[in-house]
Amino acid sequence: MANDTDKTSELTQEELDRIVETGREAHFRKYLAETDETLTADLSRKYHDAVPPARIEAMLAMPTQFDDREAFDRALAKAGPGPMDGGRVVGYSRFDTEPAHVAVDHLEIPKTIAHERLHQLSDPNAPNELGGALYEGVTEDLAIDAIGAESDQPSQRCYPVERSLAKEAREIAGDDAVERAYFAGDASELRRRLDQQLGPGGLERLQQQIVDLSRSA
Ligand SMILES: [Zn+2]
Repeated sequence: MANDTDKTSELTQEELDRIVETGREAHFRKYLAETDETLTADLSRKYHDAVPPARIEAMLAMPTQFDDREAFDRALAKAGPGPMDGGRVVGYSRFDTEPAHVAVDHLEIPKTIAHERLHQLSDPNAPNELGGALYEGVTEDLAIDAIGAESDQPSQRCYPVERSLAKEAREIAGDDAVERAYFAGDASELRRRLDQQLGPGGLERLQQQIVDLSRSA
């Protein structure tokens, strides 16, 4: 045992720090990859009947790319306009054409993973059917559902207004109608049920509420 102690003491503090840092980084990377795997498995089980099998397979085949801020901003600039998330962007995805990217410098990484993975599962026509804002709101609402809880820190929440109206839509019209619009790109049932409860143009009313509340926020 004495020899071991002698051996480590020969390392400089700098070398020790580097070993500790490398170990920490390796653990963190492992945790991120495992969290991505667990969430994608959960989502594919949960939405097995709502999403075409090929889209689920494409999602599972592409592990999320985790970037530090510099690499993330570079990737984002290269990707150009597309579905982007948050004031300070923490994740982005472009359906099934490239891996989702998630920045590692924020507190809600699992929720961001779920959010980007849901984008990949959504129908390409869903943003048109729901409108861009409500589409993001539904994504965030389903992501919070997948994680099981909303952040207790309001500053860490994404799309709070969009999410609250999406939640309302789900409560009024039911999970199946919202899932059909989101995963199959067909909002006809959602429209029908919202019209029943909110009056004609129910979906447009919700969309307008997002605009009004965002303005006053
Ligand atoms: Zn999004």
